[in-house]
Amino acid sequence: MSEKWIAGVDLGGTTTKIAFITMDGEIVEKWEVPTDNTNEGQNITSNISKAIDEKLIELGQMKDKLIGIGMGAPGPVDYEKGIILNVVNLGWRDNYPLKASLEKTTMLPATIENDANCAALGEMWKGAGNGAKDLVCITLGTGVGGGVIANGNIVQGVNGAAGEIGHITAIPFDGAPCNCGKTGCLETVASATGIVRLAMEELNKSETTGELRKILNAYGKITAKDVFDTAKNGDVLALEVLDVVSFHLGFVAANIANTLNPSMIVLGGGVSKAGSFLLEKVKGYFVKFAFTAVRESTTLSLATLGNDAGVLGAAWLIKNKLNQ
Ligand SMILES: [Zn+2]
Repeated sequence: MSEKWIAGVDLGGTTTKIAFITMDGEIVEKWEVPTDNTNEGQNITSNISKAIDEKLIELGQMKDKLIGIGMGAPGPVDYEKGIILNVVNLGWRDNYPLKASLEKTTMLPATIENDANCAALGEMWKGAGNGAKDLVCITLGTGVGGGVIANGNIVQGVNGAAGEIGHITAIPFDGAPCNCGKTGCLETVASATGIVRLAMEELNKSETTGELRKILNAYGKITAKDVFDTAKNGDVLALEVLDVVSFHLGFVAANIANTLNPSMIVLGGGVSKAGSFLLEKVKGYFVKFAFTAVRESTTLSLATLGNDAGVLGAAWLIKNKLNQ
């Protein structure tokens, strides 16, 4: 029997990443298609199915090369019913029957999972995890996502909402409003958006001159990358902002570690591209707040898979299902 592939899909608000992946987790082919949010999201799964069929033809493969399709989607998942709850930006109505829709359009067995959980599974399988079965992933992007893996399995929670690390309350009083409706969530200070917001607050209330202010004056706006780049060059205001960000991240990561004592907490997502510069600052606060036995056994590290984590984690879902 020739080697089978798994289709791994990482569904995003604007683009969908798709990959054919071997049972050993090697990516054979990966590509992206636009996510079509019109018509209440009714075209999303049929577009994915079409993209997969076209790619198989291009690669000279038959449909039976694929043994299943795993998908990460941006929202909480009801695993028993295979539905995705509450995903407004994809056009789907509440409780969209994603698993059934995927199986119908692709004619493949499907599994679905929250996208941040998929990223965590990807890092466990082929990334920073390196075989670790107890691992927590914090994805720092436009928002902050999280995935908790205990003994090789995602901790899903009674309503599919476990591991929402971005919505851990980091600032209990007078915190900024979060997209989820609460205030003071970790996401409001540790996401790219949150970092820019903190930096703009500081720039607006101080008169300091520096590289970050020069960028603001020249372009009328700043990005999270500007904050990191200027901090690396010694910009005082940018360094102060990153100290606040690192404090909250280190504090939350330490308390997650105090609760779960995983072998590692992995920082991923676009913001983590700041690399060891960010990691070392977060570690400084992590060791301060971690319980001794936890500090000595849980490590903080950077994700290694970048954008591939989601499709790999989605493929792992199918592999894991077959092994059960
Ligand atoms: Zn929130």
